[in-house]
Amino acid sequence: EEPEGHFLEQAELPDFKLISKIGEGAFSKVYRAIPQANSSKGFLHKTFRQVAVKVINKEDLPSSNRDSKSKAASKDQVLKEVAIHRTISASENVVSFVDFHESRHFYFIIQELLAGGEVFGEIVRLTYFSEDLTRHVIRQLALAVKHMHALGIVHRDIKPENLLFEPIDYIPSQVPVLRKSDDPKTKEDEGVFRPGIGGGGIGAVKLADFGLSKQIYSTNTKTPCGTVGYTAPEVVKDERYSMQVDMWGIGCVLYTLLCGFPPFYDEKIDVLTEKISRGEFTFLRPWWDEISDGAKNAVCKLLEVDPAKRYNIDEFLDDEWLNQYDCLRGQRI
Ligand code: ADP
Ligand code: MG
Repeated sequence: EEPEGHFLEQAELPDFKLISKIGEGAFSKVYRAIPQANSSKGFLHKTFRQVAVKVINKEDLPSSNRDSKSKAASKDQVLKEVAIHRTISASENVVSFVDFHESRHFYFIIQELLAGGEVFGEIVRLTYFSEDLTRHVIRQLALAVKHMHALGIVHRDIKPENLLFEPIDYIPSQVPVLRKSDDPKTKEDEGVFRPGIGGGGIGAVKLADFGLSKQIYSTNTKTPCGTVGYTAPEVVKDERYSMQVDMWGIGCVLYTLLCGFPPFYDEKIDVLTEKISRGEFTFLRPWWDEISDGAKNAVCKLLEVDPAKRYNIDEFLDDEWLNQYDCLRGQRI
């Protein structure tokens, strides 16, 4: 009889020294770690001083029962995540894949460390972002999505928790953090410039977490994966539009960055589901009063219920607001 849970021990991952836990998801814990110079992975030490290790406990996986069939299914799930991560890793706006390791009780996905952590944490810290900072973040997210969609892969889990960033130390003092606002909480910050944290300290932004990602199109043939000839029309349409779920995700992130709260929310899950299915959101006063029409237009084009009318990634990359000059541009190091 096996014990229920297994503690993570260093011996399960001998080539990397685990330092501290830096994040957690539904089925994983993520650690900061150091490649061991005197190990078989010693060569990594030269490229990556530190890495992030996503640790998946085999017993935590949703379908992992004791029977071998479901164990195989959940292993397939992890291998799929790894395969997709490998495929898309080349983009500078995607977290780099480094290595994969399996021990008796765990899977380990070793990745480039994004020392800033989640963009989500910066929303909590700053309440909301200026339009310039928002553009700086969203443009990089869009480039990551462009890269994935070009390879026929849809992310399907775009949210501020899965957006990571590299911190930057130096930011010109002319970068405003907060807009002028009627919100009494921020009133005293009007016109204040914050040297050092002007960009929220956000440098390169990279998309992470490919646990729900899916290959939709094969890149060579530009056709849906699977047999085409016998596919029902609703399936063909579904496949064509399934990329558009990421555009909705970008819309939700864009909205949230600009005002500090998500476009759709309700305590009751059925009410929330209904609001989303109708695409019912508002530019709530006073938070949205001073946000530009260009930004609002981009949100509307992304949070469009009909996936055929919704911005696709190329249309969004051409969006006027997204392409406005901003002072954070070129600040990436
Ligand atoms: P899950 O699939 O369980 O959601 P994620 O891959 O999203 O797992 O990782 C969970 C959390 O761990 C992230 O939200 C983030 O806070 C942190 N994290 C993941 N990868 C990295 C990384 N490469 N660098 C820094 N933090 C990371
Ligand atoms: Mg996640």
